[in-house]
Amino acid sequence: MLKNVLETLEKNRIFRRKVEHIETLNPRKAEYGEVEDLPEPIQKYLADSRIRLYQHQVLATQRIREGENVLITTPTASGKTLAFNLAIIEALSRDEEATALYIYPAKALANDQLSVLKHLESSCTIDFKPNIYDGDTPRDIRPWIKENSRLILTNPYMLHLILGWHHQWARFYRNLKYVVIDEAHHYRGVFGSNVAFLIRRLRRICNHYGSYPQFILSSATLANPDEFSRNLVGMDFQEVNQDTSPSGKKHFILYNPFAKWGDLSTHQETSNLFQLMVLNDMQTLCFTISRKMAELIAMWAKKELNQHNPELVDRITAYRSGYLASERRKIETGLKTGKLVGVTCTNALELGVDIGSLDGVIISGYPGTMISTWQQAGRAGRGENESLIIMVAFENALDQYLMKHPEFLFHKSHENAVIDLHNKKITNGHLLCATKELPLTLDDFQRYFDADFDSLEGLRQEGLLKETDNGLTYVGRKDPAFSISLDQISSDHFKVFHDKRLMETMDRQHAYSEAHEGAVLINQGETYIVDSFNLPQRSINVKKMDVDYHTQALKNVDVSIVKELDKRKIGNFEVYFGEVKVTQDFYKYKTMIYGKTLSTHNLELPPLKYHTRGLWFTIPGMVADSLENIFTKKDAYAGSLHGAEHALISMFPLLVLCDRFDIGGLSTNYHPETGKATIFIYDAYEGGIGLSEKAVEVMEKLVEVTRDMVKSCQCSKGCPTCIYSPKCGNDNKPLHKNGTIFLLDAILKMIKCEKMDLPTESILEHPPHITGPVKTQAIGGEGYQEFENPRNLTKKGESFYFNGNHQEALKCFQKVIEMDENNLTAWKYRGMILEHQDDHQGAIESFKKALEIHKEDDETFYYLAVSHYNNGDLDECKNTSKKLIKRRKDWDDAWCILAMSLQALGDEEEAVKAYQKALSINPLNEDAADNLNELLD
Ligand SMILES: [Zn+2]
Ligand SMILES: [Zn+2]
Repeated sequence: MLKNVLETLEKNRIFRRKVEHIETLNPRKAEYGEVEDLPEPIQKYLADSRIRLYQHQVLATQRIREGENVLITTPTASGKTLAFNLAIIEALSRDEEATALYIYPAKALANDQLSVLKHLESSCTIDFKPNIYDGDTPRDIRPWIKENSRLILTNPYMLHLILGWHHQWARFYRNLKYVVIDEAHHYRGVFGSNVAFLIRRLRRICNHYGSYPQFILSSATLANPDEFSRNLVGMDFQEVNQDTSPSGKKHFILYNPFAKWGDLSTHQETSNLFQLMVLNDMQTLCFTISRKMAELIAMWAKKELNQHNPELVDRITAYRSGYLASERRKIETGLKTGKLVGVTCTNALELGVDIGSLDGVIISGYPGTMISTWQQAGRAGRGENESLIIMVAFENALDQYLMKHPEFLFHKSHENAVIDLHNKKITNGHLLCATKELPLTLDDFQRYFDADFDSLEGLRQEGLLKETDNGLTYVGRKDPAFSISLDQISSDHFKVFHDKRLMETMDRQHAYSEAHEGAVLINQGETYIVDSFNLPQRSINVKKMDVDYHTQALKNVDVSIVKELDKRKIGNFEVYFGEVKVTQDFYKYKTMIYGKTLSTHNLELPPLKYHTRGLWFTIPGMVADSLENIFTKKDAYAGSLHGAEHALISMFPLLVLCDRFDIGGLSTNYHPETGKATIFIYDAYEGGIGLSEKAVEVMEKLVEVTRDMVKSCQCSKGCPTCIYSPKCGNDNKPLHKNGTIFLLDAILKMIKCEKMDLPTESILEHPPHITGPVKTQAIGGEGYQEFENPRNLTKKGESFYFNGNHQEALKCFQKVIEMDENNLTAWKYRGMILEHQDDHQGAIESFKKALEIHKEDDETFYYLAVSHYNNGDLDECKNTSKKLIKRRKDWDDAWCILAMSLQALGDEEEAVKAYQKALSINPLNEDAADNLNELLD
C-alpha cells in the first residue's frame, strides 16, 4: 500500500505542491563474512540463532582482537551491538577473570542491553554475570555485583560517584579489558566535556590497578569522528564505518507546509499525512516535538477516522514517557504484533526501546540534529521491505533550509560533535575528584589531564589540595564528586520547581533570560508561568498554565575582548578567536502575542558578567561603505550586521552540534577594541565549551549555508524563517534582509578570494569605518520575539475585524497583500472593511481583485453586488447578482440584492418576483420582507 501513498503524495493536488523533494535510497544487499576461530559455544550460538555475520561486524571483531580502540559508526539497526559483543564475550570466555564495563547515556538503553547480554550468556553457556549498576540497583545486591560480576552496565552519573570507591572494585578494575561507550555522540557540549574528564579519571584508576583497557565506541555518523573519539577518551581510534547489512528501498520525502503560503499548520499537515498512511495500512510511527502534540495528533486522527473507518480508531494511540510502564509495554507489544497501526510519540522512542521496525515514519519538525533525524528514520524498514519516511517542516530557518537543500541531509555528515578540554571550571572540578580518588603526581597530571598548571596551583592556594610524598591529595571537606554536576559547568545554577517538585535546573544566564519573574517557560512542549524568582536562594517556582502568549526578555549586551587566542585567515577574510567578557543587563520583559506587545514590565536583576570564548570578525570599510551606498534607508547598515549575526547563529547548529540557545551574539557598527564594525558569536557558557572555536574551523561552510538560507527565503523584508531570532534581546530591530544578503555575499567573496566590484586589497587596507558614536552600541544579542508572515497577520487581522477594530484589521490585511498579492482572504476582508468605511469604490476594486484570484467565490460576488448597489452602479449590481444566482439559485440574499437593484432601476414587476423568490427560500429574510411590503404598499 506504500505505492498508494506515494502516488497520492505525488499526484494529489493537496499534497503535491508541498512535496519539496523525494530521495530514493536504493536497496542494499548484505555482505557476509566470517570470524575465524571463535570459541565453540559462540559458533554454536550463531548457528542456532541463524545469525550470519556482516562484513562490518567481522571487521570490528578483528580490530578488537588486534587490540585496537575501535569506533563503530554504522547506522542504527546495522547490528552494531553484536559487532562488539562477539569479541568481548570471546575474551571473557578465554580469560575467566576478565571484566568489561559498558557505559550508556540512558537507563532504558542499559536495560535493553542487559537482556541481550543475559541471553548471550545463557545461550553460549559462558559465565560472566552481566548486571546493571546504577541508582536503581538495590543496596543489598550491590556488594555481590562488585565482587562477582564480570560485565557491568552503568551510566556516567553513577560512574562519576563510584570512582572514589575504587578500592571496593579492585577486582573489577584490575581485570578490566574493555570499556564500551555506546551512543557516544551523546557526549558532547557540557556533558561531553565532563564525561571526557570522567573517562580520563577511569583510565587513571585502571592503570593504578595495572589494567589498560581497550575502548570501543559506538556512535552516529559525525563530521569529525577522529577528533571526537580522541577528545572523549584521550586515545586514538580505528573507525569501522561501512554498513554491510541489507536494507530495502527507502523513500524519504521532504514535505513543506510552507512551500507556498500554506494554510495548514505543521501539526495539521502531520495529522493528515499520518491518516493517509494509516488508511493505506502502513504501520506508522509519528515523531512530534512535544508530548502535547503527540496526544493531539493521535486525537485528531481518531476523530477524523471515526467517521468512515471506525475500525481503525482503536489501532491508533499516543506513546510518551509520562505513561505507566505497563501502558508502554502494551503499546510496544501492540506495535510488534501489528495490532497497532499508528503510534504518535515524542523522541522518547528514539532511543533503545525495542518496538521492531515499521513501514513508515513521520518526523514532524526537524529534530534539531541530523543524528536524531536518521535515528528516527531508522525505525522505518522491515528487513528488505520498502519503506517511507516523511519529514514535515516547521517555519524556522533550519527546517526551511533543509527543505530547500536536501543534499545537506542526504550526503556526507556535516555535524561536528564538540568536546572542549579547556574549560577551567570543568577541568578544576575533575582535578579535585581525581586528587580525592588517588594522589595526583605531576606525571599523571600531564598524561591524563594535560591542563594548565595555573589551575592546579590555584586549587592548592584555595587550600583544597595538599602536597604529599605520593602527589597532590584532596583535603577539602566535601566530596567533590557531589558538588560537580556532569550536565553543568558551574555550581551557580537555579532550581526550577513545579508543585514543589524539581522540574529542571539551569545556569544563571538561562535563568535570567528565560525564567525571570512572569516569564512563560516551556518544558517538554508544556507552558508554565514563573510565579516567584528567589535570587539569593536561586530557586524558581512555576505553575502550569496554558497560555497563547510568550515572553521576551530585553537586555543590553556588551562584549569586550579579553585575550586574542587565535586568528584564522580564510582567503581575504579574517576570523579571530579568543576569550571575551560578556555583560548582560536584563532590564525589562514583554508579553507578546502574534508579534504584538501586550504589556511590558521592568526587571530588577543585577547585571550578569561572565568570561567565555567567542569568535569575531570585522567588516572592512569598503564593504560597509558600499552597503550604505546601496541601501540608503536609515538603519539599513545596522540591520544588515544584525541580520547577518542572527542568520549565522541560526545555521550554526547545522555544522556544530548544539542548540541555538547555547550560543550568543552581538553585532555593532563600531567596537572600540577592533575599531570597526564587528560581529561576535560566543559560547553562552562560563569559560566556553568549544562551540565557537569549532565554528572558526568551519567558517567557510557556515557563511555559505547562511547566505543560501537568507537568499532562498521567500519573504521580502525578513521573517522567522531567515533573519528574525526567537531570542533577540533587541526585539529584532533593526533588521534589513537585502543588506544582510549583500553582506554575507561580500564575506563569501572574500573567503573565496573572488573579485568583488571593489578591489580586495583596498578593502583590507581601508581605514576603520567609524559611523556611530564612539561608545559601543549593542545591536544584536539574541532574545525572544514573534514574527509576521501572511498567515499570522491574517489571523491577527481577523481577530481585529471581529472585535470591531477595522482600522487595525485593515493595516494587517494591507501588509498581507504586500507580502502575498494573491491572498484571497486579505482582499476580501479589505473590501469588507472599505465598504464599512463607505469607500465603495475601494471595496469594489478589492472584491474584483479577489475574484481574479478565485473567480468562483460566491461570497465575494455577493459583497461585490452590495458594494455596486451602495455606490449607485445599479446595472453592475444587477449583472453581478444575476451571475451569482446562476450558480447559487438557493441563496435568498442573492435574490434580495438582485431585487433591490431591479427596484432601484424601476423594474418593480421583476423586483417583486425576486423578493418573493428570496422569501420562498427563506421566509425570515427581513430585508426582502420589508422591501417587498414597502413596494406593495
Ligand atoms: Zn524570510
Ligand atoms: Zn538580535
